[in-house]
Amino acid sequence: MPRIAYVNGRYVAHAEASVHIEDRGYQFADGVYEVCEVARGYIVDMKRHLDRLDRSLRELSIAWPMNRAAMEIVIVEVIRRNRVKNGLVYLQVTRGVASRDFLFPADTRPSVVITAKKVDPAALAKRAENGIKVITVPENRWDRVDIKSVGLLPNVLAKQKANEAGAHEAWFVDADGTVKEGGSSNAWIVTGDGALVTRPAEHGILRGITRTTLLDVAAKLGLRVEERGFTVAEAKAAREAFISSATTLAMPVVAIDGDPVANGHPGSVALSLRQAFFDIAEKRPA
Ligand code: PMP
Repeated sequence: MPRIAYVNGRYVAHAEASVHIEDRGYQFADGVYEVCEVARGYIVDMKRHLDRLDRSLRELSIAWPMNRAAMEIVIVEVIRRNRVKNGLVYLQVTRGVASRDFLFPADTRPSVVITAKKVDPAALAKRAENGIKVITVPENRWDRVDIKSVGLLPNVLAKQKANEAGAHEAWFVDADGTVKEGGSSNAWIVTGDGALVTRPAEHGILRGITRTTLLDVAAKLGLRVEERGFTVAEAKAAREAFISSATTLAMPVVAIDGDPVANGHPGSVALSLRQAFFDIAEKRPA
């Protein structure tokens, strides 16, 4: 079955979908994106993802390419046309096409691309059973990583380095030694006395939607949460560590820079958060 993409008002064959060479997303990374999980035929946390899209667009003074209700309809239609029951929706909005100039163009319509793809839930479940390894890298990104911009070169380089080291994710570490977040995920630990710790999202990290919903899940499960920074040493000595994102959900971390976390096996808190996530997240039939 051919994949279908939505590009600036049209549903087109994915293999032939294209944007103009002077799209500002292509030339300046002048755009933002969202990735939503599709699980068991539902779009997960669409409201929170579109709220964050709205914030990212406002921070960059980019207009919505269509109104929000229309965007929701297109998202559902892209999922339907690609027959995705389990997978992802990717949505990107850029400032649009204009002759190359640093200044914002006048009267340019934002560009929008929406794609969907299937992901095998069994493969993800298997990865969660085994856990993943992470490496640490010095933070080298700009200080507006709270905006979900398509400018992801440091993340690309960090994740490539992780891959070459046999790991799945790279954690950016601040100059003060605290863990910020992963290249495409938020970072968490569970302390020896059972507290769930993750960095506050006010500044310096992306406020992950999965992170926000996991905080709801933690409250429902009666877990104690501490929103504070933690060091790499604290993470290595923790009872558990895990990452979160719409693509991985709560995913246990079993090694950091080659050192095992606890006994080197996925922790029970991460796995129970993962289990309870779907029931507590907002779901909309796709
Ligand atoms: N931090 C970064 C840098 C990310 O790219 C992502 C994934 N897009 C996340 C955190 C997790 O966000 P979410 O839970 O919304 O997928």
